[in-house]
Amino acid sequence: MARLFRLLLAWPTLATSLSVYNKAHISEDSRSPDVYDYVVVGGGLTGLVVANRLSENPKRSVVVVENGYIDRSYAVELPYATLGLNTADMWNITSVSDKQLNNATFRVPVGSVVGGGSAVNGMACTRGSRADYDAWEQLGNPGWGWDGLFPYFLKSTNLTPPLPEFVEDFGVTWNDSVWGHNGPVQVGFASVIYPDVKAVRRSWIAQGVPNVTDGASGDPLGLFWLPTSLDSSSGTRSSARAAYYDPISARPNLRLLTGHRVFKILFKNDGLDTTGVLAISHADNSTVRLSANKEVILAAGAVFTPHLLQRSGIGPKDVLEAANVTVKADLPAVGSNFQDHPVAAMAYNISNQSFPNPSSMVLNATFNATSWDEYLQNHTGPYTGGRVTGTGNSLALHPLSRLAANYEAVATNITSQNALDFLPEIYSRNASLLRGFEAQRDILRNIILSNSSSCCETHPALGGGAAMSLQKPLSRGIISLDPANPDGLPLVRYNTLMNPVDAEVLIAMVRYAREHWARPEVAQFSPVENLPGAQYQTDEEILDGLIATGILTPTNAHSSGSCAMMPAELGGCVGPDLLVYGTQKLSIVDASILPLIPGTHLQMTMYAVAEKAADIIKSRA
Ligand SMILES: Cc1cc2nc3c(=O)[nH]c(=O)nc-3n(C[C@H](O)[C@H](O)[C@H](O)COP(=O)(O)OP(=O)(O)OC[C@H]3O[C@@H](n4cnc5c(N)ncnc54)[C@H](O)[C@@H]3O)c2cc1C
Repeated sequence: MARLFRLLLAWPTLATSLSVYNKAHISEDSRSPDVYDYVVVGGGLTGLVVANRLSENPKRSVVVVENGYIDRSYAVELPYATLGLNTADMWNITSVSDKQLNNATFRVPVGSVVGGGSAVNGMACTRGSRADYDAWEQLGNPGWGWDGLFPYFLKSTNLTPPLPEFVEDFGVTWNDSVWGHNGPVQVGFASVIYPDVKAVRRSWIAQGVPNVTDGASGDPLGLFWLPTSLDSSSGTRSSARAAYYDPISARPNLRLLTGHRVFKILFKNDGLDTTGVLAISHADNSTVRLSANKEVILAAGAVFTPHLLQRSGIGPKDVLEAANVTVKADLPAVGSNFQDHPVAAMAYNISNQSFPNPSSMVLNATFNATSWDEYLQNHTGPYTGGRVTGTGNSLALHPLSRLAANYEAVATNITSQNALDFLPEIYSRNASLLRGFEAQRDILRNIILSNSSSCCETHPALGGGAAMSLQKPLSRGIISLDPANPDGLPLVRYNTLMNPVDAEVLIAMVRYAREHWARPEVAQFSPVENLPGAQYQTDEEILDGLIATGILTPTNAHSSGSCAMMPAELGGCVGPDLLVYGTQKLSIVDASILPLIPGTHLQMTMYAVAEKAADIIKSRA
């Protein structure tokens, strides 16, 4: 046990080594032919959902090509491991320096493993507001609003209620009717809640944050208990691999090709009639051509799907030409409209925490050992937690009006700006991209004025953590080929704070967090602001402090929007049928299609999107 304790202190290293030892390297197998009905690019969250549903029909053959491998180690399976970042199962990619953030660069968090993000993520299970999804419908996508997605939220999930003792002792609430009960993804509640959660939750309620029975109801604007993608029966992560691949991996009409990177989409002659893909094996650099009778389905995620399209000749003409790629279709939407949730990780030094608390797992060897025994015997206890226990097993979402008395002025400011002043240069050369952004902006303005979605997420955190994330950024990033190395990794430009309204909202978030930590309900912890530090007081100082201390980062690992589902005249890349404009037999199902980032962590949304996508693709067969 002492050894385990020492290992936990160095958790990220442990995670890395475990995943290396346990990987099943499945290289290209001998099953042939290499002609399938569907070729799915990316065996991440959405790719595995779609592959599962399409291969339900034994007459349809499906191949999934995944850059990473299968990892069944504790680094993936153990919920407690979410405290570290499993970089061994992620792409090693760094963003282009961000001008507004002191030219800093950041790791771009993307899974490279079977299950993709669902195998390396923090396991939080949340949904956005009804208005978040209705916005997609308003942006020209009939059937993609809350009502259109709700059946798929249910279809993809199976909720296990919290333990009765937590309901009794902490008043944990949930609403069975908004969850599925037969779906593949297991959703459960970590079976550990530390005692200080009571005080911290009380303080948010006292600050005026309403108690929400269940954050998945479509109206999550308050404080709610946070379920996770946890298989409560085994105490392990329910990833897309565990939920959608493992149970059906023996289907003879389904093939998973790991350790292969797709580097080109193939078309008939000089046109845009898609015939398949070309992939390269990491094992020996051999190439394999996989042909699709019906469709190539891109599920490589919001960073790599636009990159692959551009490598294949579909994207902004000038970007392709700069990289010496022959232009097949000039589609500026490919790589534009990139969005994420910037995070401001404020922190307080606190004292007088009750025992146990999240640090007890690291600082108290006896508690750790007992917890490990409990996990092995019952699959319960602190090892079923991890990141979620640090957030007090809860989240709070806030409309701007809760944070800023001048929210109406902020909303007005959004639409009175000259949009081009604060957008990447490509928008000034493409009227359709600009129209699309202006349409999004109108919706964001209405959302702020009607208090119908969140602009800020806070963690009712234990241990003095006070991370907050900006849910409705106006700044837009760009994904593009590296002209110096088009075969390499994409250039990821977050462009955080390019739009000054984002800074205004962030400053309001900091002030709101300070009000919270000054409340009598948390006075017992004697909180002292550590980051960015109480010396930063004016608006300008607060912004400087967020940047100078490095606690403002561009990403909450919610890459999205870079091949938006919007009409072509609004600068979209795919329509509601998910087919890439101008092409035949080429569709996208991953997070790149979200036209506007919802105010939520993305995995539950992406399971529903992929389930709906599978039905759409099936229906054209
Ligand atoms: C570190 C991290 C933490 C997160 N935390 C949470 C959380 O707590 N809660 C939550 O709701 N969401 C969270 N998310 C977000 C969520 O997991 C993602 O939104 C979701 O996985 C996106 O699904 P996707 O299918 O679009 O992409 P992914 O799941 O990323 O799948 C894309 C797959 O395609 C593969 N691929 C890419 N290019 C190629 C290529 N050329 N050839 C072959 N394969 C390729 C990748 O290796 C990857 O496996 C987190 C994500 C990360 C990375």
